[in-house]
Amino acid sequence: ATSFRAKRVAVFGLGGSGRATVRSLVAGGAQVTAFDDSAEGVARAAAEGLPTGDLRAMDFARFDSLVLAPGVPLTHPTPHWTVEKAKTAGVEIIGDIEIFCRERRAIAPGAPFVAITGTNGKSTTTALIAHLVRHAGLDAQMGGNIGVAILDLEPPSANRVHVVECSSYQIDLAPSLDPSVGVMLNLSEDHLERHGTMENYAAIKERLVAGAGVAVIARDDAISAAMAERLKAAGRSVVVVSETDPIDLSAARALRGAHNAQNANVALAAVRALGVADDVAYAGLATFPGLAHRMEEVAGPGRATFINDSKATNADSAEKALASFKKVFWILGGKPKTGGIDALVPLFSKVTKAYLIGEASPGFAATLRAHDVPLAELGTIDRAVEAAAADAEASDEAEPVVLFSPACASFDQFPNFEKRGDAFRAAVQGLESAKA
Ligand code: ADP
Repeated sequence: ATSFRAKRVAVFGLGGSGRATVRSLVAGGAQVTAFDDSAEGVARAAAEGLPTGDLRAMDFARFDSLVLAPGVPLTHPTPHWTVEKAKTAGVEIIGDIEIFCRERRAIAPGAPFVAITGTNGKSTTTALIAHLVRHAGLDAQMGGNIGVAILDLEPPSANRVHVVECSSYQIDLAPSLDPSVGVMLNLSEDHLERHGTMENYAAIKERLVAGAGVAVIARDDAISAAMAERLKAAGRSVVVVSETDPIDLSAARALRGAHNAQNANVALAAVRALGVADDVAYAGLATFPGLAHRMEEVAGPGRATFINDSKATNADSAEKALASFKKVFWILGGKPKTGGIDALVPLFSKVTKAYLIGEASPGFAATLRAHDVPLAELGTIDRAVEAAAADAEASDEAEPVVLFSPACASFDQFPNFEKRGDAFRAAVQGLESAKA
């Protein structure tokens, strides 16, 4: 990033995006000192030839900027020590998206840049917008909070569209965020541990759309709707959409459910703002492959459709999944969250049978039994898939669906939801080979 040439920059956090930041700054001629609390992280960066140094021992007054990797606490519960040192020394604290914004301004002002935020659906919508941009024959560079670190993407240019997912944390550390199109999906209580109050969380998210050339806002929750009104009153260019705007997604298998109507309507409005023709964008919806672990269709044997929704780590997400089908053979469980599946009782009528796994099993069984939902406690994903697949195949339902939407964290049996989804996929594929 040439906009930091000869600047003295401290970088804290040497995971993938932190190392991308260091490489980019070094390539642009900055004087970088990179550090991490983990000696392993420092050793790895040093082995890659990156300039590391012990920031603990340094006077921060020598730096122009401190760049923080995602995950380093700014405020809650206590600020990171680098944050304290930088504040005391009056050094600006920024993130990688800020570096990108300054670079864009320096080398390609006005280059197409779509930034996406919201509480839910960010990754899906980011991937969908990138897909529609590519479908229209343009170069899309997708990254940020999804996939590739923003500073590992190709640099901004007039004929390339950057499509970037932004967490509230990244927005907070990007004071000059000014995307050509800013997307606000929805806002609900989440991540409050980091941002304190809902007001603070909403204010951070609002900066992404307030700084945008065109703001695309879904008005389906009260806070987002109010945000759209405020921006309109301030004379900004605002496109307001809703999950209830008519849209035919019957050909878009990866966009099942009302929540995906919100994502799709938002994505269509965003690419329209980039100049993509409506009919071209619309046609692109059908070929969107979707994202792994989010209502992902997995090919299996027999008549049943298998859906991997391992990303559904809470009842809210599982509710979206259940609402997307008429009837399901439902595999769920894991490490339960507060409230369990109580909020899902109104959707129990959709459950032909439930297959329980993990620590949540006894508690969920009690809730389901109290509402007369047939169930089996099976312990592991493998056994649950086997049982659900057999029941689905034997059922008289015309199009049986085996839905894995666990409504739980994965940590009792897996390191993360991705590994858990991989296990589901492998179990389904195992059925196929067993049959073949
Ligand atoms: P994020 O990147 O914001 O975590 P994802 O696109 O990964 O969002 O989707 C995660 C889960 O959130 C999905 O599996 C689905 O259950 C739910 N979801 C997706 N889009 C929306 C939406 N627009 N509104 C509410 N929930 C959604």
